[in-house]
This record gives sequence, C-alpha cells and structure tokens, in this order.
Amino acid sequence: MLNDPFENARKQIDNVAKYLDIDKKTLAKIKTPDRVLKADLKIKMDNGKTRIFKAFRSQFNNAKGPYKGGIRFHQNVSESEVKALSAWMTWKCSTVGIPYGGSKGGIVVDPKTLSTGELERLSRAYMRAFYQVFGAWIDVPAPDVNTTGQIMAWVVDEYQTLVGHQEPAMITGKPLELGGSQGRTEATGLGGFYILESLRRKWKGPTLPKKTTIAVQGVGNVGYWFIEFAKKAGYQIVAWSNSKGGEYKGKKITNDQLLELPVDVLVPAALENMITKENAAKIKAKYIIEMANGPVTPEADEILFKRGIVSLPDVLCNAGGVTVSYFEWVQNNMGYYWGKEEVWAKLKKIMDRSFAEVWAIYQEKKVTPRMAAYILAVGRVVQAMKLLGR
Ligand code: GLU
Repeated sequence: MLNDPFENARKQIDNVAKYLDIDKKTLAKIKTPDRVLKADLKIKMDNGKTRIFKAFRSQFNNAKGPYKGGIRFHQNVSESEVKALSAWMTWKCSTVGIPYGGSKGGIVVDPKTLSTGELERLSRAYMRAFYQVFGAWIDVPAPDVNTTGQIMAWVVDEYQTLVGHQEPAMITGKPLELGGSQGRTEATGLGGFYILESLRRKWKGPTLPKKTTIAVQGVGNVGYWFIEFAKKAGYQIVAWSNSKGGEYKGKKITNDQLLELPVDVLVPAALENMITKENAAKIKAKYIIEMANGPVTPEADEILFKRGIVSLPDVLCNAGGVTVSYFEWVQNNMGYYWGKEEVWAKLKKIMDRSFAEVWAIYQEKKVTPRMAAYILAVGRVVQAMKLLGR
C-alpha cells in the first residue's frame, strides 16, 4: 500500500535504531504495538435503523507511564493509521519528557453526517466497547481530529457509570466545568508557536516576525490557534487552507498549491502524508513546522534534508497538546487547579527545553531534526524498558 502510515512509522524506528544501542529483540518489540483492540459499534440512528461503525484502540508502549493518546473520528481512520498514531504518541510523550506511553483510538466515521444524538450514542458506545482497558493509570484518551470537549464529557460519563466511581483523570481535554485544564484548547497551537519562536532565534531566515512569511495547511483547532498566536506576535500568515481549499494573498488556491508556496515557514496542520516523494522536490519553504501528525513521509524527509530544508518533527512541534493534557491529569489527580498563566508558563518551559535538546542532537549528529528527536525519544523508551527488565 502506498504511504501505509504504520509502515512509515516502522521505517522511522528502523532508521533511528542505527544510532542507538538496541538489540534485535528490543527493536522488534518497539516496532509492534502492545495491544490493538477492534470493535464494531452498533448504533441506533435517528431514522430507527442500526448502523455499524468500525472502532479501534492501539496501545503501543507503556514503559514510560500509562498509555496516552486521542480518539479520532474520521472517514479515513484505519487500523494502520491508529497503530502509526499510537507509535508517534509514544515518541511524542518521550520527546517532551512527560511520564506517559503512547496509544491512539479512532472510529471510521464522518461526524459531520451525524446528528448530535447519534454522535453522543457513538461516543458512549466507543467507551462501552473498550472501558476495561482505560483508566487514569492504564490508558488516558483525549481529543484528536474531529473530537471535542463535549465528546470527552460523554465518554467520561459513560466510563464513570460503568466503573461506579468518579475518575476525571481517565480522560483529558474535558470541558473546564468537568475538570478540564485552563489553556488546553489553545495548547497544541501555542506549543507550535513556542517552537516557531525558538527556531527563529537559530535560523538563517528573517530576524523579525513581521518579515517572516508563513503558510498554514489546515485550520482545525491546531492550525487555528497556531495562526492566532503567530499573528499576534507579528508574523505574516500569507496563506491558509481547510479541507476544501485555501487562500494565498487573497487568491483561491488548492491544498497542493499551498504546500508549494515560496514562504519562509510551511505549517502542515491537517493530516498525515501531505509531503511525499511526489511533491518534496517542489517544496519552496525553508522551514517546516509539522503541526499535524505524520505529514511528512520518510522518503520525503530524505529529499527535504538533501535540499537543505529543515523540517521540525510532529513529535516535538505538536506536543503542546499532550503536555497540557498531562497538566490536566496532574491537576485531576491532586484535585487542585492552576490558572491559565501558570499552565502556559509550564508549557513554555517544556517546549523550550525540548526544542533545545532536539536542536543540540541535530547539530551534533548532523541528522534530520526528526532523527534527532527520535534518538532522544526512542532512546529514553528503550532505557526504561531495560530498567523494567522487558
Ligand atoms: N491528539 C493529540 C495528539 O495527537 C493530543 C493527545 C493527548 O492530549 O493525549 O497529540
């Protein structure tokens, strides 16, 4: 299959293995999810008919802590995609040094075609199918593509009803009223903005934000907040797009055209496999900040690197979301809540430190920034597995 996401995720692990002291058995282990669960969710639709929706949960690795990862509602969700996303969650949490493993879930559905009632029944059915493998110290879900705070609220309610006790820390991205964290909604975009600021202090691009041009593909929650923070700091957002198409300096463009614009920074913030070996030679941006998960394929990575284009990886750039999810979980566990300023100051500290750690390896080892992050992240997971005797 062309650009099979899980094959790409496995290739990335093979690539990093060369830089780490990993034996064959451990390598095989960190290329395979611990457990993949599947279910057919049978939902009574508003018209009285029953429809079946395919659902998945992949728990990839929990050497560093409870599994952590969102639930995606999208028509293109597949087992391979969920497995890849669960691997990337493992490396993401490890890159920024938060005490979690990685997981991911999904339902094959276009939620825009459902009524609110159907969406609620589907969300609750997901939790009923998998609740035995969820929990604050087992596996902690969260929002992902097309899933919202309201969906998290239905899901936590279903869980608490099934287990018979309150456990807000079993899920993150909840509404504030239910123990969500201040600043979680903006967190992924804000984390990416902090990376942009760190990058600007190192790069060969313009020194001032107002001289820096940026194109953003995808204005979901992540892209939207990235743009808001970047605009406020004076950066020039010259192009944006959604799933239907976009705009460049007032003119209509396609998503493919957006990727090939002559800008300083390209920000893919939609879905995986956007920059592939087919278009990598045509990218004109000097820097890429990956805000989507898996937007650049391993083949494209190599082409970009040879062309001198610096692509900062998803596991670093979009880790702001899961980092504030971690803060939400910490606050739930202690039952004591922080203000937005405190949350964002803590987020900035983690994003700045993680950028510095990845950048140092990138400079020292002369590898791609992704490889630098993976050397750090996979190395930490392997070390934890050794200590655990796995
Ligand atoms: N779905 C988001 C991600 O891919 C957030 C996950 C979380 O907060 O656990 O990073």
